[in-house]
Amino acid sequence: MSDLITAGWLSGWIRAFSELVRTHHDQLNALDAAIGDADHGTNLARGFAVVATELDHAPDHPGDLLNLVGSTVVSNVGGAAGPLFGSFFLCLGDAIGNDSPLDSRRFALGLRAGLAGVVARGSAEPGDKTMYDALAPGIDAIAAAAAARHDLPGIFEAGRLAAEQGRDSTIDMLARKGRASYLGERSVGHQDPGATSATYLFTAATHHVGDSDVRG
Ligand code: ADP
Ligand code: MG
Repeated sequence: MSDLITAGWLSGWIRAFSELVRTHHDQLNALDAAIGDADHGTNLARGFAVVATELDHAPDHPGDLLNLVGSTVVSNVGGAAGPLFGSFFLCLGDAIGNDSPLDSRRFALGLRAGLAGVVARGSAEPGDKTMYDALAPGIDAIAAAAAARHDLPGIFEAGRLAAEQGRDSTIDMLARKGRASYLGERSVGHQDPGATSATYLFTAATHHVGDSDVRG
């Protein structure tokens, strides 16, 4: 298996993520009910259903495809998550550009740019109990495995494990950003909904990695 990523692979990755937020819609709403307003699953499932439709006629170029995903997310995903996930995909798309296929090191650089977009939008810092706390360790693990020339399944499995650990670490955190921060100490003891949905980006990459179009 090569470690090259095509627009077809990216499209399948986003479709797999759309499917995960659809099937975990109730879980994400329940997590948000504990420390927010119970809409995180609904926000993502509705918006990514539109994204999945857009992918049917998406451009066959990595950067353009991810920019379409980002703008569709911004317009169709409600709540704080819309602009945050939207910035992630827009900055990822801008960073990787349209050269295809791209290797895992360039994809990892793009993911870092996506994370920088999330921070530019919401100013999250490590330990604030947000999606950042899953995205950052997951992306660091992908970058390290890509730099070590692991194959794509190994790279995305490393990312998934690190993101899951980061997600789980949000349980003990006190929320300092977003709606959950209004709860202060009462936010401790609950898993962050955005860290949970962000982890599904990594799950989606591991589910999808075995698909035939990965061998670009
Ligand atoms: P809302 O709070 O507007 O209802 P959602 O429920 O869709 O939005 O999303 C809540 C999630 O958004 C939180 O669990 C958290 O992970 C994430 N979030 C909120 N504010 C920020 C921020 N400033 N930076 C990063 N992530 C944030
Ligand atoms: Mg909410």
